[in-house]
Amino acid sequence: MVPGARLVVLGKQGAGKGTQCVRLSHHYVVPHVSTGDMLRAAVKQGTAMGKKAKSLMDRGELLGDDLIMDMVTERLGEKDVRARGFVLDGCPRTVSQAERLAAILAPYDLDLAIDLEVHTGQVLRRLAARRVCVDCGANYSTSTPPLISWTCDVCGGEVIQREDDTEEAISRRLEIYELQTTPLIEWYRSRGQLESVPGTGTPDAVTRRMVKVIEDRRNRGSGFG
Ligand code: ADP
Repeated sequence: MVPGARLVVLGKQGAGKGTQCVRLSHHYVVPHVSTGDMLRAAVKQGTAMGKKAKSLMDRGELLGDDLIMDMVTERLGEKDVRARGFVLDGCPRTVSQAERLAAILAPYDLDLAIDLEVHTGQVLRRLAARRVCVDCGANYSTSTPPLISWTCDVCGGEVIQREDDTEEAISRRLEIYELQTTPLIEWYRSRGQLESVPGTGTPDAVTRRMVKVIEDRRNRGSGFG
Protein backbone atom coordinates (compact mmCIF):
# COMPACT_ATOMS: atom_id res chain seq x y z
CA MET A 1 0.00 0.00 0.00
CA VAL A 2 1.21 3.55 -0.75
CA PRO A 3 2.10 5.24 2.54
CA GLY A 4 0.19 8.46 3.32
CA ALA A 5 1.81 11.87 3.83
CA ARG A 6 1.34 15.13 5.73
CA LEU A 7 2.44 17.91 3.41
CA VAL A 8 2.20 21.69 3.16
CA VAL A 9 2.85 23.33 -0.22
CA LEU A 10 3.95 26.96 -0.28
CA GLY A 11 4.37 29.14 -3.35
CA LYS A 12 3.34 32.45 -4.86
CA GLN A 13 0.00 32.83 -6.55
CA GLY A 14 0.33 31.25 -9.98
CA ALA A 15 3.27 29.05 -8.97
CA GLY A 16 1.18 25.99 -9.80
CA LYS A 17 0.40 25.03 -6.20
CA GLY A 18 -3.20 23.97 -6.88
CA THR A 19 -2.26 21.78 -9.85
CA GLN A 20 0.62 20.14 -8.01
CA CYS A 21 -1.39 19.61 -4.81
CA VAL A 22 -4.06 17.71 -6.76
CA ARG A 23 -1.34 15.54 -8.30
CA LEU A 24 0.35 14.88 -4.93
CA SER A 25 -2.98 14.04 -3.34
CA HIS A 26 -3.55 11.39 -6.04
CA HIS A 27 0.00 10.09 -5.72
CA TYR A 28 -0.14 9.63 -1.94
CA VAL A 29 -3.90 8.91 -1.85
CA VAL A 30 -4.55 11.67 0.69
CA PRO A 31 -7.14 14.48 0.65
CA HIS A 32 -6.24 17.79 -1.00
CA VAL A 33 -7.18 20.41 1.60
CA SER A 34 -7.31 23.80 -0.12
CA THR A 35 -8.45 26.76 1.97
CA GLY A 36 -9.08 28.80 -1.21
CA ASP A 37 -11.34 26.03 -2.64
CA MET A 38 -13.18 25.67 0.69
CA LEU A 39 -13.76 29.43 0.86
CA ARG A 40 -14.88 29.66 -2.78
CA ALA A 41 -17.35 26.81 -2.11
CA ALA A 42 -18.69 28.74 0.91
CA VAL A 43 -19.06 31.89 -1.25
CA LYS A 44 -20.91 29.91 -3.91
CA GLN A 45 -23.24 28.33 -1.35
CA GLY A 46 -23.90 31.76 0.16
CA THR A 47 -23.10 30.64 3.73
CA ALA A 48 -22.55 33.24 6.46
CA MET A 49 -18.82 32.61 6.26
CA GLY A 50 -18.90 32.89 2.46
CA LYS A 51 -20.66 36.26 2.66
CA LYS A 52 -18.07 37.52 5.13
CA ALA A 53 -15.18 36.23 3.02
CA LYS A 54 -16.19 37.39 -0.45
CA SER A 55 -15.24 41.05 -0.46
CA LEU A 56 -11.88 40.41 1.22
CA MET A 57 -11.11 37.62 -1.24
CA ASP A 58 -12.08 39.74 -4.26
CA ARG A 59 -9.68 42.43 -3.05
CA GLY A 60 -6.89 39.91 -2.48
CA GLU A 61 -6.77 40.50 1.29
CA LEU A 62 -6.20 37.69 3.79
CA LEU A 63 -9.02 36.49 6.01
CA GLY A 64 -8.57 36.37 9.78
CA ASP A 65 -6.45 33.62 11.32
CA ASP A 66 -9.29 32.48 13.63
CA LEU A 67 -11.74 31.90 10.81
CA ILE A 68 -9.15 30.07 8.70
CA MET A 69 -7.78 27.95 11.52
CA ASP A 70 -11.27 26.94 12.74
CA MET A 71 -12.07 25.78 9.21
CA VAL A 72 -8.76 23.92 8.88
CA THR A 73 -9.01 22.35 12.36
CA GLU A 74 -12.42 20.95 11.49
CA ARG A 75 -11.22 19.53 8.17
CA LEU A 76 -8.03 18.02 9.61
CA GLY A 77 -10.11 16.30 12.29
CA GLU A 78 -12.06 14.27 9.72
CA LYS A 79 -11.58 10.54 9.35
CA ASP A 80 -9.96 10.52 5.88
CA VAL A 81 -7.27 12.97 7.02
CA ARG A 82 -6.67 11.16 10.29
CA ALA A 83 -6.28 7.86 8.45
CA ARG A 84 -3.83 8.91 5.72
CA GLY A 85 -2.74 12.53 6.03
CA PHE A 86 -3.25 15.52 3.74
CA VAL A 87 -1.81 17.93 1.20
CA LEU A 88 -2.46 21.38 2.58
CA ASP A 89 -2.76 24.13 -0.03
CA GLY A 90 -3.18 27.81 0.92
CA CYS A 91 -2.57 27.38 4.64
CA PRO A 92 -0.52 28.34 6.55
CA ARG A 93 0.05 31.79 5.12
CA THR A 94 1.34 33.50 8.22
CA VAL A 95 3.76 32.39 10.94
CA SER A 96 0.88 32.53 13.41
CA GLN A 97 -1.15 30.10 11.25
CA ALA A 98 1.90 27.80 11.05
CA GLU A 99 2.27 27.80 14.84
CA ARG A 100 -1.40 27.00 15.23
CA LEU A 101 -1.17 24.25 12.63
CA ALA A 102 1.74 22.64 14.50
CA ALA A 103 -0.38 22.73 17.69
CA ILE A 104 -3.35 21.11 15.90
CA LEU A 105 -1.18 18.32 14.54
CA ALA A 106 0.64 17.61 17.83
CA PRO A 107 1.86 15.10 18.94
CA TYR A 108 2.57 14.47 15.23
CA ASP A 109 3.95 17.09 12.88
CA LEU A 110 4.18 17.78 9.21
CA ASP A 111 6.34 15.49 7.14
CA LEU A 112 7.47 18.32 4.94
CA ALA A 113 6.75 21.84 3.69
CA ILE A 114 7.62 22.28 0.01
CA ASP A 115 8.25 25.72 -1.42
CA LEU A 116 7.43 25.83 -5.12
CA GLU A 117 9.75 28.49 -6.52
CA VAL A 118 8.76 30.57 -9.56
CA HIS A 119 9.91 34.11 -10.47
CA THR A 120 7.36 36.91 -10.13
CA GLY A 121 7.56 37.76 -13.86
CA GLN A 122 6.49 34.24 -14.72
CA VAL A 123 3.64 34.05 -12.19
CA LEU A 124 2.25 37.34 -13.51
CA ARG A 125 2.15 35.88 -17.04
CA ARG A 126 0.53 32.67 -15.75
CA LEU A 127 -2.10 34.52 -13.67
CA ALA A 128 -3.13 36.78 -16.57
CA ALA A 129 -3.77 33.65 -18.66
CA ARG A 130 -5.30 31.50 -15.86
CA ARG A 131 -8.88 30.24 -16.17
CA VAL A 132 -10.63 27.95 -13.67
CA CYS A 133 -13.71 25.76 -13.50
CA VAL A 134 -16.32 27.31 -11.18
CA ASP A 135 -17.50 23.85 -10.09
CA CYS A 136 -14.44 21.65 -9.58
CA GLY A 137 -11.60 24.20 -9.60
CA ALA A 138 -9.71 22.52 -12.48
CA ASN A 139 -7.12 24.90 -13.94
CA TYR A 140 -6.79 25.94 -17.57
CA SER A 141 -5.13 28.81 -19.39
CA THR A 142 -5.85 30.81 -22.50
CA SER A 143 -3.15 28.73 -24.24
CA THR A 144 -4.51 25.38 -22.95
CA PRO A 145 -8.30 25.89 -22.87
CA PRO A 146 -10.85 23.07 -22.36
CA LEU A 147 -11.64 20.98 -25.46
CA ILE A 148 -15.13 22.47 -25.85
CA SER A 149 -15.51 26.24 -25.55
CA TRP A 150 -14.92 27.09 -21.86
CA THR A 151 -16.71 23.99 -20.58
CA CYS A 152 -14.65 22.01 -18.07
CA ASP A 153 -13.19 18.76 -19.48
CA VAL A 154 -13.41 17.18 -16.01
CA CYS A 155 -16.95 18.03 -14.85
CA GLY A 156 -18.71 20.09 -17.53
CA GLY A 157 -18.74 23.24 -15.34
CA GLU A 158 -18.20 26.76 -16.66
CA VAL A 159 -14.56 27.82 -17.03
CA ILE A 160 -13.95 31.48 -16.16
CA GLN A 161 -11.34 33.96 -14.99
CA ARG A 162 -11.28 34.09 -11.15
CA GLU A 163 -12.77 37.26 -9.67
CA ASP A 164 -9.54 37.87 -7.77
CA ASP A 165 -7.37 37.48 -10.87
CA THR A 166 -7.67 41.21 -11.62
CA GLU A 167 -4.50 43.28 -11.89
CA GLU A 168 -5.12 45.07 -8.55
CA ALA A 169 -5.99 41.92 -6.59
CA ILE A 170 -3.05 40.00 -8.05
CA SER A 171 -0.56 42.70 -7.09
CA ARG A 172 -2.07 42.92 -3.58
CA ARG A 173 -1.91 39.11 -3.15
CA LEU A 174 1.73 39.04 -4.26
CA GLU A 175 2.54 41.92 -1.92
CA ILE A 176 0.90 40.10 1.01
CA TYR A 177 2.71 36.90 0.03
CA GLU A 178 6.03 38.70 0.22
CA LEU A 179 5.23 40.32 3.58
CA GLN A 180 3.40 37.56 5.42
CA THR A 181 4.12 34.25 3.73
CA THR A 182 7.81 34.53 2.79
CA PRO A 183 8.81 34.57 6.51
CA LEU A 184 7.17 31.14 6.75
CA ILE A 185 9.78 29.71 4.42
CA GLU A 186 12.48 30.64 6.94
CA TRP A 187 10.28 29.40 9.79
CA TYR A 188 9.98 25.93 8.23
CA ARG A 189 13.66 25.94 7.20
CA SER A 190 14.76 26.65 10.76
CA ARG A 191 12.72 23.64 11.90
CA GLY A 192 14.39 21.43 9.29
CA GLN A 193 11.03 20.88 7.56
CA LEU A 194 11.56 22.74 4.28
CA GLU A 195 12.52 21.66 0.78
CA SER A 196 12.51 24.06 -2.19
CA VAL A 197 11.61 22.83 -5.65
CA PRO A 198 11.76 24.84 -8.90
CA GLY A 199 8.21 25.26 -10.23
CA THR A 200 9.30 25.76 -13.83
CA GLY A 201 8.95 23.25 -16.67
CA THR A 202 6.06 20.93 -17.47
CA PRO A 203 3.58 19.98 -14.72
CA ASP A 204 4.87 16.37 -14.95
CA ALA A 205 8.46 17.48 -14.44
CA VAL A 206 7.49 19.55 -11.38
CA THR A 207 5.50 16.65 -9.87
CA ARG A 208 8.48 14.31 -10.37
CA ARG A 209 10.75 16.79 -8.57
CA MET A 210 8.32 17.13 -5.66
CA VAL A 211 7.84 13.37 -5.26
CA LYS A 212 11.61 12.96 -5.35
CA VAL A 213 12.25 15.39 -2.47
CA ILE A 214 9.45 13.74 -0.47
CA GLU A 215 10.81 10.26 -1.11
CA ASP A 216 14.40 11.33 -0.38
CA ARG A 217 13.23 12.63 3.01
CA ARG A 218 11.28 9.48 3.66
CA ASN A 219 14.32 7.35 2.84
CA ARG A 220 16.50 9.43 5.13
CA GLY A 221 13.90 8.78 7.81
CA SER A 222 13.61 12.42 8.92
CA GLY A 223 10.23 13.90 9.56
CA PHE A 224 8.10 10.91 8.58
CA GLY A 225 6.40 9.13 11.43
P1 ADP B 1 -4.18 32.56 -4.13
O1 ADP B 1 -3.08 31.73 -3.51
O2 ADP B 1 -4.14 32.55 -5.62
O3 ADP B 1 -4.27 33.95 -3.58
P2 ADP B 1 -6.26 30.86 -2.86
O4 ADP B 1 -7.22 30.16 -3.73
O5 ADP B 1 -5.29 30.01 -2.09
O6 ADP B 1 -5.57 31.90 -3.83
O7 ADP B 1 -7.02 31.80 -1.82
C1 ADP B 1 -7.96 32.76 -2.27
C2 ADP B 1 -8.23 33.79 -1.18
O8 ADP B 1 -8.77 33.12 -0.02
C3 ADP B 1 -7.01 34.52 -0.64
O9 ADP B 1 -6.66 35.63 -1.44
C4 ADP B 1 -7.51 34.94 0.75
O10 ADP B 1 -8.42 36.02 0.67
C5 ADP B 1 -8.31 33.72 1.19
N1 ADP B 1 -7.46 32.74 1.91
C6 ADP B 1 -7.17 31.47 1.51
N2 ADP B 1 -6.36 30.84 2.39
C7 ADP B 1 -6.13 31.73 3.39
C8 ADP B 1 -5.37 31.71 4.59
N3 ADP B 1 -4.66 30.61 4.96
N4 ADP B 1 -5.36 32.83 5.37
C9 ADP B 1 -6.05 33.92 5.04
N5 ADP B 1 -6.79 34.03 3.92
C10 ADP B 1 -6.85 32.96 3.09
